[in-house]
Amino acid sequence: MKKIIQNTLLGSEIVDILIEGRTITKVSPALAAEHPDARIINGENTAAFPSLINGHTHSPMTLLRGAGDDMALKEWLENCMWPLESRFTDEDFYWGGRMALMEMVRTGTGFFNEMYFNPHLMLKALEKTNLKARINFPVMDLNDLETGKKMWKDCERFFTETEAPEGVQLGTVLHSVYTNTRESLEWIRDFAAERELPIHIHVSETAREVEECRSANGGMSPVEYLKSLNLLSNRVIAAHTVHLSENDLAILAETGTAVVHNPASNMKLASGVFPYKALRDRNVPILLGTDGASSNNNLDMLEEMKLAALLQKVSFEDPTRLSAQEIFDIATIGGAEIFGTGGGAVEPGKEADIILMDLKSPAMFPAWNLISNMVYSASGMDVKTHISGGAVLMENFEIPGYDKVFEEAGRCARRLMS
Ligand SMILES: [Zn+2]
Repeated sequence: MKKIIQNTLLGSEIVDILIEGRTITKVSPALAAEHPDARIINGENTAAFPSLINGHTHSPMTLLRGAGDDMALKEWLENCMWPLESRFTDEDFYWGGRMALMEMVRTGTGFFNEMYFNPHLMLKALEKTNLKARINFPVMDLNDLETGKKMWKDCERFFTETEAPEGVQLGTVLHSVYTNTRESLEWIRDFAAERELPIHIHVSETAREVEECRSANGGMSPVEYLKSLNLLSNRVIAAHTVHLSENDLAILAETGTAVVHNPASNMKLASGVFPYKALRDRNVPILLGTDGASSNNNLDMLEEMKLAALLQKVSFEDPTRLSAQEIFDIATIGGAEIFGTGGGAVEPGKEADIILMDLKSPAMFPAWNLISNMVYSASGMDVKTHISGGAVLMENFEIPGYDKVFEEAGRCARRLMS
């Protein structure tokens, strides 16, 4: 079915956007008269943008929002997150995932790169929405080879049994070098290479992780260790990468490894400052991510863009670092190209992954520098309508089914915290 977004501001022009199936086919003023059969989506007082690409998420952690604030990463994981996560039932994975999807729809994220347990339940949650994602099967053996071997079997079974719906990609996860035996790292390396699957991994998030890796692996940093295992390539997406040496930077560049900046999480856990300029100067592909809802504490990519830009400026006492346009491009077209989502820009030929921002929101006024408003002023709450792969997921702030998800996820969260 044809759809037309009518009278929305795109750049500096009021236009109609014609969507046929999943694709934007025409952008021009006054298209509605030519297509009387199209469903009209009201674009008055809105500005159209591509939806945002979240490079690193742990979706079901929406249930753990507010748990273990103000702790260091190691203690936070070992004394708070992992004990709570060990109490998760299938229902929690499912409804926590559904709640995250609601938040992403609400705040304008059109694609996310997921790292969490029980990915089949996240895939099930995705059946209820047209949001795009990469769902990754995780291996985290906590340095126990027998646990690892069981996870390898589960991983093989997942890829034999799972067929991803349109718009959803499958991949693998290694939680980190410090939560996996060398055997598991190598097993995923080979498994992913055989099937040309991506690998998502946390790398060099804290100074402590780097120190411990160096003392356990003959002086090698996590990046050097992964390189020595032949594990880095352009199929690898490394989250955080805060603590990098000159050699680490060179390795990431030469292997084509992509990295994800998670500014809110890095600041909240006091992990450190992502070396943005050093990575960009070496043409390392860079993504932006929120991390999970317990280390952020939301999944709002508009807020994340602002934090990324401000963190770079203050850390290097240089207001010219990481401009609004640069971080906006990373969170839209740059991310879309790295993940191959087909979207990332509002133009003919692209998939219709579109958000309409509310121009009546004070945060979007006045509307003369829209990219500035998006990065420095607006929040995800100013997203009024959200379209993904041509499907309308939220219209005029209304998301069908929200009340049910709110109720079920609330029940799960209360039980977990009791
Ligand atoms: Zn993470």
